Amino acid sequence: MRILWFCIPAYGHTNPTIEVVRELVRRGHEVRYYSFEEFREKIEGAGADFISCDAYLPALDAKSERKLREVSTTEMSVQSFRITATLDPIISQDVESWQPDVLVTDSACFWGKLTAIKFNLPWVCSTTTFAFNKDSAQYMQQSASEIADMVLGLPRMNCEIRKLRGLGYHVKNVLDIVQNKPDDNTIVYTSRTFQPCAETFDEIHYRFVGPSVREVEPREKAGRPLVFASLGTVINDRPGFYRTLIEALHDEDVDLLISCGKAFDPTVLGELPANMRVEHYVDQMEVLSRASLFVTHCGMNSASEGMWMAVPELLFPLTGEQRAVARRVAEVGAGVLLDEHDAKDALKLKAAVLCALANEDISTGAARMREDLRSCVGPSGAADFIEQCSLKR
Ligand code: UDP
Repeated sequence: MRILWFCIPAYGHTNPTIEVVRELVRRGHEVRYYSFEEFREKIEGAGADFISCDAYLPALDAKSERKLREVSTTEMSVQSFRITATLDPIISQDVESWQPDVLVTDSACFWGKLTAIKFNLPWVCSTTTFAFNKDSAQYMQQSASEIADMVLGLPRMNCEIRKLRGLGYHVKNVLDIVQNKPDDNTIVYTSRTFQPCAETFDEIHYRFVGPSVREVEPREKAGRPLVFASLGTVINDRPGFYRTLIEALHDEDVDLLISCGKAFDPTVLGELPANMRVEHYVDQMEVLSRASLFVTHCGMNSASEGMWMAVPELLFPLTGEQRAVARRVAEVGAGVLLDEHDAKDALKLKAAVLCALANEDISTGAARMREDLRSCVGPSGAADFIEQCSLKR
């Protein structure tokens, strides 16, 4: 079977797909994966044929760059539509000559979804966040500025859609692309227990496969407890938060490891006490295997990886989507929310961290979720579903 795969340039969206790709290749299928140089090694390592999209990214002016850093939905959508147009010649030629049996696309990758529409291909939506419909969408408490961004951006987005119609992409409006329909075949990388309003998603079109993570043996926790803090790989330019955390824990009997991302140089955090380390990027699963508490921004992957390793979480979400994940982690009892005012005050942050470390309820909740997530069908269940959705059923 020939599988065409599309993803946006983001670790959180790419990482969960890797084990599924590996499984499909192991079964003898050919996977052609359109992605970006940063992810080449991972994708090729899983056995897929990697197609580089970097050269097709449109040039950005300073305003667009700023908007993308702020995770503006309008800007991301506009750029996605533009990438669709620039990629159109190579993808169209590839589809016509290679004749894929099924297409898999990330839920936020518009050029994947639009290719499925243009060529009327069977397709599977790969959803690395929650599955969204009108019920679960209520979990996304969007801020007023996030809502304003979307509403005011509609004319710009619809203008890009009109241009795409000229290239054979027949979509009515932006909602056709952004929203999933109830009968779109969808893989969701979590469990039904963790998915909000799970009962509103049917068993036929939705496969809750659980997080797709690289397994790491849990380590014996010896010595001081390790607090691991990360705000993920996208919106992580928060040196102020890390400084407060360092101040909060500098003379406590804990170790602190911060993965600060690539937005700033760790030296701006100043001289570190002996019990602390800051890195741009770490092997998160390995670190979680020996951590006692995970201070997390609640990206879907990070929150799931924490639960997978039964590490209780202190939840510090920064966007609507992350707030939805944080709310769910708290509801299933695997973590506690960090008040945003407490996050700015070293004494209060210290109290929050020490309280979370001593909270047996969230330890038990995290252990419960570890069992729940591990009972899902995993990458092999995702591969079964993709096979079922192909032309060669
Ligand atoms: N990650 C990692 N090392 C780091 C920071 C992040 O391996 O130092 C991985 C993490 O394990 C997760 C992904 O990057 O799989 C981040 O995805 P998530 O959805 O949590 O957040 P995002 O970065 O998309 O906001």
